[in-house]
Amino acid sequence: MVTPLIVLVFTGGMIVALGLVNGLLGITLRDRAYLWYAAAMLAFVAFDAVSASARLGAAHEPAVQGAYLLYCGAIAVFGAAFLDLPRAAPAAWRAVLMCYGALVLTGIAYAAVPTALRRGHLDGSLEPLATTAFLIAVFAAGLVAWRNGNPLARTACIAFAGVVIGLVTWACGTYGVVPRSALTDAAGGLGVAWEAIFLSVALAERIRGLEAVAFRDALTGVANRRAFDLRFADEWRRATRTRTRLAVVLLDVDRFKAYNDACGHPRGDRVLARVAQALAHAALRPEDFVARYGGEEFVVVLPGCGRADAARLANGALAAIRALAIAHPAHEPGIVTASAGVASLVPRHGLRPRALLVAADRALYEAKRDGRDRVATRPPRAAG
Ligand code: GH3
Ligand code: MG
Ligand code: MG
Repeated sequence: MVTPLIVLVFTGGMIVALGLVNGLLGITLRDRAYLWYAAAMLAFVAFDAVSASARLGAAHEPAVQGAYLLYCGAIAVFGAAFLDLPRAAPAAWRAVLMCYGALVLTGIAYAAVPTALRRGHLDGSLEPLATTAFLIAVFAAGLVAWRNGNPLARTACIAFAGVVIGLVTWACGTYGVVPRSALTDAAGGLGVAWEAIFLSVALAERIRGLEAVAFRDALTGVANRRAFDLRFADEWRRATRTRTRLAVVLLDVDRFKAYNDACGHPRGDRVLARVAQALAHAALRPEDFVARYGGEEFVVVLPGCGRADAARLANGALAAIRALAIAHPAHEPGIVTASAGVASLVPRHGLRPRALLVAADRALYEAKRDGRDRVATRPPRAAG
């Protein structure tokens, strides 16, 4: 091995840093996938370090083999924890385990045979082959998980592809398929550095995915109440600062208890999902925000909108819900309808955000009282 020291130090330092950051994240998030990532990356750097010192005669072969097996084992367990490989890709996962078994056997053989005896005989025989087979099996398992619809598997596959290319290059150099050079010697480490970067990206994508789940209403697919609370507070602050209007529409499905009683709760659930989608399509501007406020009530936040604009949007939403033409046997129009209350004001210091919601709720009550399937607007008392 003639890998320049600078490459070893650079890739090693980066892999250690990524391993430590993700290890700390794993402790904070109590997520084992991050910890296995950290274990794999630190084990690889340990392997690189002990094999470098083994070349100088300082470390023993069992330490080299142990660190390497730890790296590969941690990558496999990471795949199981992060991509659920045993269930997502059972056949490929069995291949991963078999290849790991072969790696363990070659590792034990390498550690058992004295280096002096091995030199020129065993070197460059089994290990690159076993390693390449193992990593190709991990890559294949990732591909199957990706094809089965796991979006995180795509980035993981990009990571595994890098390490496969790196190790195949290294194996080709070791076997003499291509002339051995500093590049073929460094290819394995560079491949793992690539892997470290892209698996970090995949782990970060997972946090984003968790956040998306935490702020989405599972039944209707629109934002949930928690997301609304945060967004509404943000928009209120922004409108206060810029002295611009802020409008909300509260929308409530008419006679929905009667719908559930007549058609059953599961069909009621499907109605809510369709109403939410109709509402989401009615709120067209990117800054408009639709959320499930609770039960069969939805809310739309409309930055920069006066009452007339908001009422126009609300009327459009009610028309879209009517156009769904969902039969409602216990409601006079014969189809599912909704009512909406609209309020708009320019927020200012001393006025509480709740004032706008209370005003929209009062307007909604009026719409219900006046016969339902309509929009009511009413200025909040506090705004004059
Ligand atoms: P109104 O026209 O005055 O709004 O009458 P309503 O029956 O819609 O009003 P009420 O508040 O009395 O009833 C709301 C109903 O919404 C009661 C509850 O069973 C139903 N509901 C709330 N959340 C869900 C849900 O997630 N799924 C289903 N299927 N029904 C729900
Ligand atoms: Mg209600
Ligand atoms: Mg209702």
